[in-house]
Order: sequence, then C-alpha cells, then structure tokens
Amino acid sequence: MNRASSPTASAPVGRLTTPRAAVPVEESRKPAPDALTIGRRLRHVRQESGQTLGDVAQTVGMSASALSLIENGKREPRLSVLTALAEALGTPLAELLATAPPTRRAALEIRLERAQRADSYHQLGLPAVKIGPRLPMEALEALVGMHEAMASVQAERAATPEHARMANAELRMRMRAADNYFGEIEGMAAELLTAIKHPGGPISRAAVDRLAGHLGYSLVHTSDMPGSTRTVTDMTHKRVYLPQPEAGQHDSRSLALQAIGHLVLGHQVPADYAEFLSQRVEINYFAAALLMPEQDVVPRLQDAKQAKDIAIEDLRDAFAVSYETAAHRFTNLATRHLDIPVHFMRISREGVIYKAYENDGVSFPRDATGAIEGQRVCRQWTARRVFEQPDLSQAFQAYTDTRSGTYWCTAVVDRTSDGLFSVNVGVPYQSVKWMRGRETTHRSQSRCPDPSCCHQPPAELAERWTGHAWPSARAHSHLLAAMPPGVFPGVDDTEVYTFLERHAPTG
Ligand SMILES: [Zn+2]
Repeated sequence: MNRASSPTASAPVGRLTTPRAAVPVEESRKPAPDALTIGRRLRHVRQESGQTLGDVAQTVGMSASALSLIENGKREPRLSVLTALAEALGTPLAELLATAPPTRRAALEIRLERAQRADSYHQLGLPAVKIGPRLPMEALEALVGMHEAMASVQAERAATPEHARMANAELRMRMRAADNYFGEIEGMAAELLTAIKHPGGPISRAAVDRLAGHLGYSLVHTSDMPGSTRTVTDMTHKRVYLPQPEAGQHDSRSLALQAIGHLVLGHQVPADYAEFLSQRVEINYFAAALLMPEQDVVPRLQDAKQAKDIAIEDLRDAFAVSYETAAHRFTNLATRHLDIPVHFMRISREGVIYKAYENDGVSFPRDATGAIEGQRVCRQWTARRVFEQPDLSQAFQAYTDTRSGTYWCTAVVDRTSDGLFSVNVGVPYQSVKWMRGRETTHRSQSRCPDPSCCHQPPAELAERWTGHAWPSARAHSHLLAAMPPGVFPGVDDTEVYTFLERHAPTG
C-alpha cells in the first residue's frame, strides 16, 4: 500500500526505497464526556427548552457569563452545578452527561474547537475561526476535514520507536536481498570520478572539491556549524557548509560526499522515517563508493583472494579510511565480486548492537519486530571477546561455533568519545580459506539463544543473589528513539536559517 495522498511520496526508483506500509492512525474518541461535549449538550437542551442564558443562570444562581463559559466548554462544571442545571432545564442529568453530541453540527463544532485548541495548531500562528451559528455548515465540514487530514499526516511523520524498529528491520532485509551491493549508486560514483578525471586510487580532499565544483557547488569549512547538524547545504548559493576538519574527528571528505550524495541521488524531503533511513544508507553508500571506488577496490580484493590473503586493514591503509569504512565497504563488494558471504557489526563494549548486516546466515539476536539494534550479542562472539584481549590496538581473530554453523571473525576496537566499540567482520567457515588470520587458534562455542549459554547467570551465583540486587540500568534511549518531529528530523530550523543568513554572500 502506498500513501497515494502524500505529495512527497515520489521516491527514487531502483534503489532502496520501496512502497511503505500505511501507518494506522488513532481514530478512537474519548469515551467519557469532556467539557466541550457537556457544554454543547447543555446549550442544545437549553435552546430546545426556549430559555435564555440569563433565565437559566438566574434559576441556578450563577452569572450568565459563567454559564456561557460552561456552554463553550471553557469551564468544567462541578457535578452539583450540572445537577442544578438539569433540574432547571427539566431534563435528566444523564441527558447532559451523554457522550454523543446532540446534533451533527454540534459534533463538527466540537471537533473544530478541539482542533483549534491543539498546540500543533497554535504553532502555525493562524487565527482560530469563530465557531457560532453564522459559520456555514459546509465551511465547518471543510475545516474539520482539513484539520483531521493534517493531524493524520503528522501522526504518520512522528515515527514511534516501534515504527522506527520495523523500518530498520525492513531496510536490513532489502540490503540483504541485494547482498548489500547497489549497482546504481556504484554507477553514479564511477561516472562522477570519470567526470573529474580521477586517476584512480584514494580520493583526496582536493578531488572532493573538484567533484563539488563539477556539480556547481563549493565546499565551505566553518567553525560555527549549527549544533544540530553535521553539514548544511545552501541550495540558493550552491554551497555545502562543513565543520573544520579536526584530527580524530569525522573524515571531512566523507561528510562532504554524503552531503553531495543527497543532491546527486535526487533525494526529496523524506516523507517518513523509513525514507529518512533509506536516504541515510544511500548517502553512506555513495560516500564509500567514492572514497573506495569499485574499479580500484575490486582488483585489489581479487588479487588478495588469489593469494588467500584478504585483510580489511589493507583496504583501510590503501584508501586512507577508517577501519569501519573499510569493513563496511568490504560487505558491499565481497559477495558480488568475490562470492564470499559476510556479516558485519558494530557493538558497544556492553555487547549492544549499533549497526549490523549479514547475508551469511549468522543469527543476530532480534526482538519481536525483527529489529536487532539495541540487542545484546552472545558473550562468546569475537565482537565481544576482542574487548578481553590484553592489547586492544590489535585486530583479534577467532572461530565461533554457533547453532547456524562455524564462523571466523576479525574484530578491532574503535575508541570514540562515546566509549569503546568493536567493529567486526566475519565469514562462514567454508570461506575462511581466503582470509588472512585464519590460522588463529582462538575458538569458542556459542549456544545462544539457549539462555544457559551466557544470558542466564551461573546457578550458584543466582542462588546467592536473586532477590538481593537492585541494579539501575544505563538506558540506551538514543538508540532508535522516536524520530524527532520536523521536516528534517532533529534539526533546529531556526539555528540553521540564522547560520545560512550569517554566511550567505551579500549582494
Ligand atoms: Zn551466548
């Protein structure tokens, strides 16, 4: 099912984006009567009885303006007041407390009143339409219809963590089906490299500048980037703003190439979280395809396979990229060009998955939605055992017997300001003959998800401590939290526009 109503649903074809499932919209109304419904029923009954506001107010001993506030739903009446009003109007109390609005018009008025009171409407800075007998029925119908359509679009945009997890799981399945190889993006990258007459090998900062120039853009490094952004592209003046490159920081070539990727791949403002995620994967792929061009990497890998000496660190060193970029790029090309199925993961020191990919049958822990991010991998896996090694600067290789077969993995510890992570690449036993480091004697058994493997504490300890410990969990709330609202999720628009204004060329 495609959301045909969305004007931004035109997705780039042939890459990662496929039609998305519609998000169910909450349509149930509150069962208990609220102040608005009570007010409308009260006014209806009063008008039917032919009495004025003043008449009824006097009978129950309150001011006409106070009664008016109640009828307009702006004040919640106490039960004693409601009982007195029912008596004055000669109607049972239950009639005033019924949940259904008295007429269709009243129902529409209540819905419009609610919509106009919502914070999301106030944020638009538009005036509230006066709801009264002079508002034509068709205007009322149209306004209510538009408010409610807008609310449902907003509900779809605000992905819940569960939607986010499902979108992630679906995206990983599509990457797996393509063996993590995207020919269209490889083709675009190759064309661009030809256009700037790249001689081959690693791409320099100067070459990235030429690439931007070829597309009509210039790269501007600045030290006052808005805090909520990594890069900002000024599409009017054709500039890409980037942070000043600092030692140990993000590779600025990679950031620039990702920003350029949005332009080259024809990305539109993402219509929902799934499209946002697809775009992130695509720009990452695009940047990697330029940093480590297919036509340069593949011959190297083929030679290394011939020599039974494939090593991720050789790719890292040859193309001046991070180990993670090299490892991830290896997963793009290994199955397609070398016929080697692979898995990849980035996990925290606690074993929690941040990123992972597999097409070699390795069994990642997953939740009910199929998502693996935030799950904890087996303690016996190489990705975790690497943290126990005496020298964390060395790559660690080991075999692991799992319920889906034996895998050989190589893992490296990545030190970041957020703590230690491990980056792990693995292949099934039958492919290990091509890999450097296969002679390792490290070997472990993983019986996960059998709880007795590593999730269940040893019986002796459990007996001593069950019921006597109260740990407070470190929350991984940033991991797949709901997508923040806004066209560009998580970005502070005010900050970005002020920044652009400050930097835009004058005249
Ligand atoms: Zn285990």
